[in-house]
Parts: sequence; structure tokens; C-alpha cells
Amino acid sequence: MKPNLKLAVQCKGRLSEASLALLRDCGIVFSRSNGKLKVDCDNFPLQLLFLRDDDIPAMVAAGVADLGIVGRNLLAESRAPVHMVRDLGFARCRLCLAVEKTQPWQGIGDLQGKWIATSHPVILRDFLKRHGVRARIRRIAGSVEIAPAMGFADAVCDLVSSGSTLLSNGMREVETVFASSAQLVANLKLASDQSVLLERLLLRIRAVLRSRTHKYILLNAPETSLASICRLLPGMKSPTVSRLNEPGWVSVQSVVNEEAFWEVVDRLHELGAEGILVLGLEKMVF
Ligand code: AMP
Repeated sequence: MKPNLKLAVQCKGRLSEASLALLRDCGIVFSRSNGKLKVDCDNFPLQLLFLRDDDIPAMVAAGVADLGIVGRNLLAESRAPVHMVRDLGFARCRLCLAVEKTQPWQGIGDLQGKWIATSHPVILRDFLKRHGVRARIRRIAGSVEIAPAMGFADAVCDLVSSGSTLLSNGMREVETVFASSAQLVANLKLASDQSVLLERLLLRIRAVLRSRTHKYILLNAPETSLASICRLLPGMKSPTVSRLNEPGWVSVQSVVNEEAFWEVVDRLHELGAEGILVLGLEKMVF
């Protein structure tokens, strides 16, 4: 299929597998053999460009790629002019300030006149300015967390997800500077046929992302609780209700957000619901 849209994804690293899994869940078929850096998809007019993630914002801004999947941290750091299309919900992490475990910490003012090592100097400079702190920034590309132990800096500003790398290097997190997750971005001047394709792709992405955060729920309940249960499980439009063979009982089918799931189940129990079945969803198309 002749590609009309070029999507840049991270070649190797934390975002690459989740980005490709999302595309595959969207029904897009491609095979990446022999480490090819340019791959045409078989059943969607999309070409994948495998790039370093820190190159993606500039490549999308320049129109080398029409779309990109990249961490919000790199978008903010590069300040590349691109359109933020959608948060993709994976690769969640935070850029945070950390100091050595033994160092006392009263607040950001402690960094006045200190050296801070980071791979994100633009975001950090902006943060320090907003907080009126004049600290000196040392740029370092990787292994940021060992900078204080090497005598390279007094503190670090580094990307963290679980925090275990910082801890195992004798550091503690003291302040969050920036929250990040993977974003779908687009060039600011997509042609109209490309925008149509992007909308088709987005319909699939939304369906996949929603299905990841929702469950299908079936239950039996006394008819007297039906109104309360329908309020609790509004579903996509409204729940499906069918009559059981047992007089005074109904079966209810709906979808429920995973975040609220256990609270909803507790409430359903209180309302007399029984035989609650919960199933994973593959796609949720609105
Ligand atoms: P990497 O593959 O390590 O270069 O990381 C690529 C991107 O993954 C980063 O730019 C962040 O957007 C994201 N990320 C998620 N969790 C982390 C983490 N714990 N450390 C570094 N990057 C992370």
C-alpha cells in the first residue's frame, strides 16, 4: 500500500516496543526485518521511520516525518513546533530533582548557587527561573544519577519512573519538575488527505486506549436495585438489561472504568448484585 503518512517511532529504547504494540493493536500490519529503518505498512498507507527519540521532535517539525511518537519530556526540551495530537498513556515518568540521601533538604532554595547535572537543561532552566533559584546547570547525556558521587554536581535533575535507580545510587527524590508520557505529535502543516488519514488512525488509537482502561461487566441483580445499578454503570450509552427466568431478577451488561472498578464492585454487592463476571475488552469504538 503506497504510504501517504510517515510516522517516526523510537528505533530502540523504552518507547519503541510500546509504540509498535499500539500500532499492531490498531490492526496495522508491518514486519521489521533486518533492522530496516524505513518500513511500509501492509494494510494502512503508513510508513514507519525508526529514529532516535531525541531526533523525533525536530524531524516532525521539519516535515521529514508527518507524525511522531515521543516522550513529552523531549518535546518540551526541544521546543520543536509540532502539534500535540494525543497523550498515549504509556512511558509515564517524571523529571525530578534529587540529592544525595545524606544531604539535608529544606526546599528548592537549597539549590541556590549549586551545580545541577541533567540531560534536560531547557526544562530545568525554565523551572529554576519560575522558582527564582539561580543554580548552575551541567549538561550530561546519561548516567545522570552518579554525577554527585563523581563530584560533577551537587544535585541531579533526572527522569524517573519507579525511582529505584536513584535509590540504588544513593540519591533521593526531592521535587518533581515535569511529568511526562508518550505523545502522538504531528507536523503543523499536514495536507488535507493526510489529516483524513490521521483521523482514521486516531479512531483506532482511541478505541485501543479506551479498551486498555475499561472492562466489560455482567451481573445478575434484583429488579428493585436496577435504577441504582444503571446510575453506577452508565456504560457507553446505557447498560443492556435483560430479564432472568427467575421472577424479580435482571441481568445487566455494561462497561466500567478500571480505576473505579473495585469501588463499583463493592457498591454492586451492597445493591444485592450476584454472579458478577468481568471480561477484558479488545477495542472500544465510539
Ligand atoms: P530511553 O529509551 O531510555 O532513552 O528513554 C526514552 C524515553 O522513555 C524518555 O525520553 C522518557 O520519555 C521515557 N521514560 C519512561 N520512563 C523512563 C525512565 N525511568 N527513565 C528514562 N526515560 C523514561
